Amino acid sequence: SVFARIDKLDDRIRAFVTLTREQALQQAQQVDNARAAGEELPALAGIPVAIKDNICTVGVRTTCSSKMLYNYIPPYNATVMERLNDARTIMVGKTNMDEFAMGSSCENSAFFPTCNPWDTERVPGGSSGGSAAAVAAGEAVLALGSDTGGSIRQPASFCGVVGMKPTYGTVSRYGLVAFASSLDQIGPLTRDVTDCALLLNVICGHDPFDSTSAPYDKPDYTSFLTGDIKGMKIGVPVEYMGEGIDSAVKEVIKKAIAVLSNLGAEVAETTLPHTEHALPAYYLIAPAEASSNLARYDGVRYGYRSEKAGDVVDMFMQTRSEGFGPEVKRRIMLGTYALSAGYYDAYYNKALKVRTLIKQDFDQAYEKFDLLLGPTAPVTAFKRGEKVDDPVQMYMVDVCTLSVNLAGLPAISVPAGMAGNLPVGLQLIGRPFGEGDILRAAHAFE
Ligand code: GLN
Repeated sequence: SVFARIDKLDDRIRAFVTLTREQALQQAQQVDNARAAGEELPALAGIPVAIKDNICTVGVRTTCSSKMLYNYIPPYNATVMERLNDARTIMVGKTNMDEFAMGSSCENSAFFPTCNPWDTERVPGGSSGGSAAAVAAGEAVLALGSDTGGSIRQPASFCGVVGMKPTYGTVSRYGLVAFASSLDQIGPLTRDVTDCALLLNVICGHDPFDSTSAPYDKPDYTSFLTGDIKGMKIGVPVEYMGEGIDSAVKEVIKKAIAVLSNLGAEVAETTLPHTEHALPAYYLIAPAEASSNLARYDGVRYGYRSEKAGDVVDMFMQTRSEGFGPEVKRRIMLGTYALSAGYYDAYYNKALKVRTLIKQDFDQAYEKFDLLLGPTAPVTAFKRGEKVDDPVQMYMVDVCTLSVNLAGLPAISVPAGMAGNLPVGLQLIGRPFGEGDILRAAHAFE
């Protein structure tokens, strides 16, 4: 069972913040009983799932890997948890992450870093590093992560698993602790593309509890897994294969392009001219939204409260300075600055305009192509400690993934091969609600 794997490995991997062993065994027993009674069960009944620790689970601590929420026990389930329960899956535990999903290496967890199962001196990526590592190490069969700027796809790439960020609005954000609300999206981390389609089937669909949830006809995503991609038009943006991308990574992606061509896809070069502005735009918009979303952690309603404080304002200040880690504070300061009177137009508004240009780049590319392709990350998993002291270096790891969130598009990272002894992810980006095309191509490829 996965708990035997966890007992054997998790001292070294440290994918989990909380294990829900007893609850899992109970759930498993109920599924067994139902099966014995001849009940017809959903496709994923009895399958162990790991949940990123920023997804609210009723009665189970949900920390966001932050001191601020170290003792927070939600009184309700996120919509995705309700859907997983209806599908009779089994939650094995809550996974480690960068604090409030801010980071690319899982080193920003307030508790401990998670290790990459391929090489435990290296990071698993982030922010959903715990979920990716758990699936890669066989500590769970499926996992959920969240992706604001690459946090599902990049750790999937680093850990050699499949990770998908769905179109904005496809999966309900109700009960996902908000980081940057216009970018956040929950999605699957799995061993293969079939599992990804099955898990997406369970978690997607309109939710009246999330005002940004899209009403759309949800297909059966497994129906796209035909193996046939003849005539599919795939564009390779030159910006994703240029400077700054590790040459070993590029080699793997070139081989992937050859495989897709051999399968009958028509692959050609294209361009997304505003790509270089995605990183600065994201690192204004995401912190701006975060600074507003994180204002609620004042020591009154949730989690941690400083013991030291005198009056109420002092209590807010002490609580926030003790409860948040350095990266979270950096984002709050950046965000409040970008939103403040006098700077709003120069920074935040400018960034929104750039966001529109980035979206238009994609719209133009999709007049000619069904999918776009490139590496998920410019590098393979790096060593722990290598980038912690240099936030900009850390932010650069997101260059290939951020534009997708700014444009609200769906994208997958699928294992494409190895560079040395480390996995490389291939990113396939689709049209809005083009998850089917993405899954079709990824499935034919893997
Ligand atoms: N690494 C990016 C950041 O730190 C993306 C995080 C995410 O997708 N949650 O903001």
